[in-house]
Parts: sequence; C-alpha cells; structure tokens
Amino acid sequence: MTRLIFLGPPGAGKGTQAKNLAHHWNISHISTGDLLRNAVREHTPLGLQAQSYQERGELVPDQLVLDLMQERLSQPDSESGWILDGFPRNLPQAGFLNDLLQKLAQKCDCVVNLEVPDDVVVARLLGRGKKEGRADDTEEVIRRRLEVYREQTAPLIEYYRERQQLVSVNGNQSPQEVTDELQNVIHS
Ligand code: AMP
Repeated sequence: MTRLIFLGPPGAGKGTQAKNLAHHWNISHISTGDLLRNAVREHTPLGLQAQSYQERGELVPDQLVLDLMQERLSQPDSESGWILDGFPRNLPQAGFLNDLLQKLAQKCDCVVNLEVPDDVVVARLLGRGKKEGRADDTEEVIRRRLEVYREQTAPLIEYYRERQQLVSVNGNQSPQEVTDELQNVIHS
C-alpha cells in the first residue's frame, strides 16, 4: 500500500510524476488543483467560489479545500493508496490532514519534496501556459504562485522533516530520470 504526499513549487513536475506513478502502482492520483479546475469548468458552487482565487494564483480558502479533501479521501478507492498532489499547501491544511488520516485509519508513508530551481520552474510554467492554455500560467500569476509557495507551502518542508517523513528528490532532471529516482527512494 502506497500513500504519498508530493511537495514542491509549481512546475516542479508533481502532476506528471504523481500521474505516472499512481497509474503504475494502481492507486489514486488526487490533485486538488485538478479537482478545483474541474469544479470551475462545471460551474459547481465550489467552482464559482474557487475561480477568482485560482486565476490570481492565490490559495483557495482552506475550508473549501478541506471539505473537498475530506470527501475525496473518504471514498472507497482511497483505501488502496494514493498520491496527494498539491495538498497540503499550508500548515493548517497539514494539521487537518493529520487528523483526517487518523480518523480514517490511514497513514502517509512519506512526503516527497521535488526540488527544482526557480528559473527552471518559471521557464517550464511559461512553456506549459502556451501548450495547455492554463489561465494561471501567465508570467504575472506564475510569479505570484511562486511567492505563495515560498510564504505558505515551503514551511511544510521543515514540518515534515521534523516528523522524519521527508524525502528529497532532484526534480531538475528528465521526467524519466525523476520517475526512476522516485521509484528507488520510495520502495527502498
Ligand atoms: P496546482 O494545480 O496544484 O498548481 O493548483 C492550481 C491552483 O489551485 C493554486 O494556485 C490554487 O489557487 C488552487 N489550489 C490547489 N490546491 C490547493 C490547496 N491545497 N489549497 C488551496 N488552493 C489550492
């Protein structure tokens, strides 16, 4: 059973790697960014509330994301393993996740930090914006997302390191090399 959290700045490759590995291990890939983008596309009440935050590169208010995750992790498929991609994004979310996992009798195996330098991340995101047409991949919003990452999400690295759950992987390699390294560190 594999249960992992992927940390790292936007553009670190969390989505690509989480998708590949979840498929390979036949477990769920749970991306809060994807879930929120789907909600926005479908104009659900959650989507209507989340949209302006997403477009500006700000975090969507915790309560919305916490309800979403509680529902997602309570679904039966979550019992056979998951990779969380984009959650938790700040310390309150991490505290909530701890409590939720305890309630659900699930345990996270480890937290993977994908390390990629800032300039590489910006170049990748600008490229993605052109390719995938994501509204939040414009230069201005990318800069804001990186700031939000540094201020709110990066402290989670220390948080999980202190709990001895953190594993760091060099994300500045080809996607296949990153996948190989992830497979080595996770199942060693
Ligand atoms: P991502 O696809 O993970 O890069 O997320 C894209 C956007 O979705 C972020 O910039 C936030 O606006 C929102 N988002 C995704 N995950 C979260 C989260 N855990 N908490 C708050 N907002 C989130």
